[in-house]
Amino acid sequence: MNHLKHAVENQRKFFMNGNTMDYSSRRETLISLKNMLKENEAEIYYALKQDLTKSKHEAYVTELGFLYSEIAFTLKHLKSWMAPERVPTPLSHKGSKSFIVKDPYGVVLVISPWNYPLHLALAPAISALAAGNCVIIKPSEHAKATSELLAALIAETFNPALIHVIEGDVDTTQALLKQKFDYIFFTGSTNIGKEIMKAASEHLTPVTLELGGKSPAIIDRDANINLSAKRLVWAKFTNAGQTCVAPDYLYVHEKIKFKFVRELVKHTKALFGKRPLYNENYTKIINEKHFNRLIGYLDDGSIIHGGDFDAESLRIEPTILDQITWEDDVMQEEIFGPILPILTFQTLEEPLYTIKQKEKPLALYYFGENERIKQKVMEFLSFGGGAINDAVYHLGNPNLPFGGI
Ligand code: NAD
Repeated sequence: MNHLKHAVENQRKFFMNGNTMDYSSRRETLISLKNMLKENEAEIYYALKQDLTKSKHEAYVTELGFLYSEIAFTLKHLKSWMAPERVPTPLSHKGSKSFIVKDPYGVVLVISPWNYPLHLALAPAISALAAGNCVIIKPSEHAKATSELLAALIAETFNPALIHVIEGDVDTTQALLKQKFDYIFFTGSTNIGKEIMKAASEHLTPVTLELGGKSPAIIDRDANINLSAKRLVWAKFTNAGQTCVAPDYLYVHEKIKFKFVRELVKHTKALFGKRPLYNENYTKIINEKHFNRLIGYLDDGSIIHGGDFDAESLRIEPTILDQITWEDDVMQEEIFGPILPILTFQTLEEPLYTIKQKEKPLALYYFGENERIKQKVMEFLSFGGGAINDAVYHLGNPNLPFGGI
């Protein structure tokens, strides 16, 4: 694995020589990245279609469009982010000035997952490059077409001493983790996150871990039923539920459940058609392993919509499960697929106290109209991000933080 060592050393030398420190070179890097994406959109759509059968529209909204606005936002603020921040000096230090200076780490490793294989590989890289670091990206081996394309485009566009894509499977990631990095950014599952943190601790390398989990949506008695159902259908079943902040399960007030489920079914049909398995714009499950895991959940509770699947195309219909309890398999781990379990409640305290006892969710969504109760939910529960009367859309605001508590 000498080439990995060489790749890191090459970047460290480039960094040490001060090549990434000035504003104009960082700006130029970001502009080159944007141009690289713009000039190769057709190839990018094709790769995402191969990996996940993503439609062009979905690929733009959730991958390319996101990156364009991330780059534009970063370019707009770069100068002010780079500037030293003047802070007050106490009287006892009379005659001095005090500053906080923003200093890049050095060589950054970005390890990314397969669900938004372009977006989640490049978004952390944009921030790291803007901050003056060199970046090695290790894309997910499960989204092979995107990984290959990204490696080729980056190699054509950039000096590998600044940005370098290293493809490979778990062995490659583990070998990379043996190298000394100055920062590691990982997006993926909680279990692998623990492995990454362990490996990083060998070199005392700081990490950002963007992990998963079960994100709830609560639909209260006074919620706008039609709109809530419409928004939740999009948020849950886009990318076939393979979204870290997708509503994992619903807690619906007993009194509105019947009507709400009817609306959910109506909007699911409207969005994906009557035969989603044959809708070529409906995303597939990434691989057989995840497909089989998801199929296993279909035995839980009772299916009130969907439930069909096609092993050849790895597609599972948007599926709604009723009669679910916390003992069911589907409630034990993040679902990460197009299966939506419904729990019911009579008083809001039930979901609030249950959710509070679980791991703090990456996202939480509340649907209801009463201002006092909205406030109560926000104050009572701790969660990474979220929305009231919407779901997933908070990710589109670059002024909001993202990634967990
Ligand atoms: P994953 O953890 O299986 O893989 C992610 C990366 O880790 C890949 O590049 C892979 O090569 C590497 N990897 C896998 N096993 C490894 C090991 N034993 N040692 C070292 N590296 C290893 O994640 P995934 O299945 O690709 O992605 C799905 C998960 O990602 C879900 O849990 C989802 O919630 C989470 N996710 C989180 C966010 C977020 O921003 N919080 C965004 C998207 C996805």
